[in-house]
Order: sequence, then C-alpha cells, then structure tokens
Amino acid sequence: MIKIINIYIEGHDYNHDLFELVRTFFIKTDIKFIEYKELINKYEYLLVSKLLQNEDKSTSLTIFYYNGKIVEKLEDDIGSINIPFYDKKNLEKLSVKKGVYNVLSKYLNKTLPWGILTGIRPVKVVHKLIDTDIPNKEILEILKNEYKFMNSKAQLILNIALSQRKHIYPIDKEKFSLYINIPFCPSKCSYCSFPSFKIKNNNEIVERYIDCLILELKSSKDIFKYKTLNTIYIGGGTPTSLEISQLKRIIKEIKDIFPGNVKEFTVEAGRPDTIDIEKLRMLKYYGVNRISINPQTFNPKTLKCIGRNHDIESIRESYNLAKSLDFDIINMDIILGLPGEGMLELENTLKEIKDLNPDNLTVHTLSLKKGSKLYNRETTDIDKKTTVEKMLDRTFLYASEEGYLPYYMYRQKQILGNLENIGYTKPSKECIYNISMMEEKETIIGFGLGAVTKIYYPSEDKIKRIPNFKSLHDYIDRISEVIQKKKDINFNLIKDEDNQKPLKRKDI
Ligand code: SF4
Repeated sequence: MIKIINIYIEGHDYNHDLFELVRTFFIKTDIKFIEYKELINKYEYLLVSKLLQNEDKSTSLTIFYYNGKIVEKLEDDIGSINIPFYDKKNLEKLSVKKGVYNVLSKYLNKTLPWGILTGIRPVKVVHKLIDTDIPNKEILEILKNEYKFMNSKAQLILNIALSQRKHIYPIDKEKFSLYINIPFCPSKCSYCSFPSFKIKNNNEIVERYIDCLILELKSSKDIFKYKTLNTIYIGGGTPTSLEISQLKRIIKEIKDIFPGNVKEFTVEAGRPDTIDIEKLRMLKYYGVNRISINPQTFNPKTLKCIGRNHDIESIRESYNLAKSLDFDIINMDIILGLPGEGMLELENTLKEIKDLNPDNLTVHTLSLKKGSKLYNRETTDIDKKTTVEKMLDRTFLYASEEGYLPYYMYRQKQILGNLENIGYTKPSKECIYNISMMEEKETIIGFGLGAVTKIYYPSEDKIKRIPNFKSLHDYIDRISEVIQKKKDINFNLIKDEDNQKPLKRKDI
C-alpha cells in the first residue's frame, strides 16, 4: 500500500479538488502538499500538476514520479474541451482534474465509476448540459470523455435528469418547500454520523427542542405568506420517535402557520419500533401522504450488529399498518455494504421487499464517516468494494425487473467504492421534495437543529445557504439568533425575471 502521496502544484490553486480526487484513488493513504519540488528524489511518490499559460493556448501538465523517475506524464490542451457553459476558470479546473485522473488511472490501471467528479450532485451537471440545448447523445459523450464517467453511470444520470424535468420546470419562484428536523432516535445506529440523540430519558430536552422549533416556525409566518408551499418534509433523526402528542403539536403548528393543501407531505418513520396505529392515523389526519419505513436490511443478525433494536416482523407489521391506512407513497431505505453482508444477504432483503412492494425504494451505499461507531471497525478493502459494486448492480437490475425507475441520486464523501445512493420509484410516485433538495432549483426553508435554508435565485441559477446551529445546545440556547436569521430572509429579493425560465430543448 502506498503510504504517502506528495502533491506539488503550480499555476493554479485547486488543492482541495485535487485532494478529494486523489483520495478517491487512495482511500487510506496520506496526502501531502509540498511547496518546493527541487528535491524530487526525496519523495517516493510525487504528483506534479501545473497550469501553463502560453500566448496562444493554455495547457495542464501532470507528471507522476516514483523515486524521482517519471512514470506517467500527460499534457492537455484546455482549448480542446467543449463544455459550453464553462468559463475559463471552470475549464482550467476540469483540465487539471482530468490530467490527474488520467495519470493515476493509467498508473494504477484503475477507473473510477464517477471519473473526476467528487461532488455529491452529479445530476446537476446534466441539467446544465440539457439547459444549453445539447442533444442527449452529445451529453453522454461529454460525460464519458470530459468527466470520465463510466458508460453506465453517464446513462443513469442522463435518464434521471430527463425524468426529473417535469417536476422542476417551469421554475416558479413563488414556490417553496419546508424541511423540519427532529434529531431524536430510539438508539444510535452504528453507521450513523448524523447529529441524533437518544430519546429515552431525555424528555426535558425534547420538550425544550419542540418549544424552540415552534418559535422558529412561528417566526416565518409573515415572510412566506404570499408564497406557495409545495412540499413538507419532516426528517431526522426519527420524527416518529416523539410521543404522539409531541409530534401532533409540531404538525398542528405547521398546518396553522402554512394552511392549505400541499402537493406532498412526508414524515420519516424510519424505525419500525416507533410506529403504531394511533400515530399513523394522526399523520394521515393532518395530510401526511408519504412516509418512510426504513428496514436498511432484512437480516436479523445485521440489524443487531448495527444497533437497531427491532426485529424483522416489526418491519412487516409497520409496513402493513401504513398500507392499511392508504398512504399515497411508502418508501423503504436499504443500505448496501453493512457489516457481514454480501450477495446472499442482499437477495434475502430483496425477496422481503418484493413481498411488501413499497412505492419508493431508496438504495444507499454505506458511507463511513468519522463520528460513526462503525468508522474504525470496518474495512474498506478491495474485496468489499467489489462486492458492494455487484450489490449495487443487482439492486439496479432488481428495481427494473420490479417496475421501479431511478428518479434521484446523490453521492456522499467516504462512500464505499466511490459509488452512489439511488432513489427508485414506481411510475408517478416520485418524492418531489427529494428532487428539489438534490437538484437545488427551488427554495427550501429548513427548521430545527442543523437544518439549512436554501434560497434559490433562478436567473443566476444559484443557491444562498443559511444554516442553523449544528449543536443542540446552541440551537436551544441561541434560538433568538436562529429566529433573527429567519426574519432577515428577504424572499422578495428574488427578482421577477427569475420566474418562469423557459425550457430550451424541445424534446423535454
Ligand atoms: S435512525 Fe437514522 S438518524 Fe437515527 S441513529 Fe439510525 S441512522 Fe442515525
């Protein structure tokens, strides 16, 4: 295993981008940036990336040294890159990343499914290409040649982008959605790195949190009164781990502040041990039409190992209860790559899911972040990555056999095998909030701990982020600051011409 990769850069400052890309090739290797490369022989592995500006053209030069000797070298003419919406800086960055990707890929004889892309929202790139009126065939070529995507990934995100456009366009600046965070759970899952707190024996803090959340919600009443609420999403944590009276108090408040019907109202009921018929009836009464019951796996041994204190039967029971109340959409999440799981365990999970037949199926690839109990325990060796890749392919095939379509996707840092998470849906059952949240073409107002408000400016195609505090104590103790930030949002600053951005391509 390579212990240290040294990087020397000249003529640009894309340190962070190169760091992320190199880390994708070498997961547990130290990456160091050096300032002088005179002593090339001093370094076992040295990667040099330069941006050269000549009179007539700019090029990126990438060289990989091993013990002072050149083992790979590549020069790329930036003018040959054809991405219409990229300015000079973006083209330079892409060329620098592509140079590093090609050199490492050749030296290691290894390709990455998502090529040079290290961001979490690859579908956004495709929307931009479609907006620029580029035909599908050319988009696929750009994704493969310039971004270095694998063929199957390029096709996947093109299909996803095309399917999303009816939910995104025409853009309406009057529309917005709500996200409300309930950061409490019955127990902590070993892979979890979210700020979520055990609910048991914490009633006082839970009540104080709800009081603050309601104050924050109330403070937004006037700001959004002439706007159209599109969707509501209560996530977490596990919102249904609250007592029925606590959850009802929050939902009633939301309904009082934002009256009227919404297109979609989701509540995450992730842990089956937090659901009962009364809670589900109450949710249904207040207009919740989409809920998420997340088994993650149907293998009892794994459930125990990851710290979920419920059995398989309770997943089936909760699902059937929800089904009996006729929620429009029921989602189930599963995770690929959990400890001790391979193809056999996946087949068992898929068999159970087939029997239940949820409307949405969200397939996550395990992402091990610092802060999760599993981070230090689990290996990310090559065998595991290969297995997870096969598992992802299998779920893709399963989904298409069972009539599901991929409708949104995202990636996470430290995701196993540099892969992805995919949301599948039965026809016309897409979660609109998930599309809005991922593609960032609609304003979303976030409430609660760590929630992020994102104001969308269509004419610039830009998002302004306004994050809430990430610490529970800060959120509660400094709620007046949180409220002031909400009051400072000037939704009306979004200009009139931002509205109704026309569709360019005729075939969508
Ligand atoms: S249910 Fe979700 S939020 Fe709660 S501990 Fe498990 S992974 Fe974290």
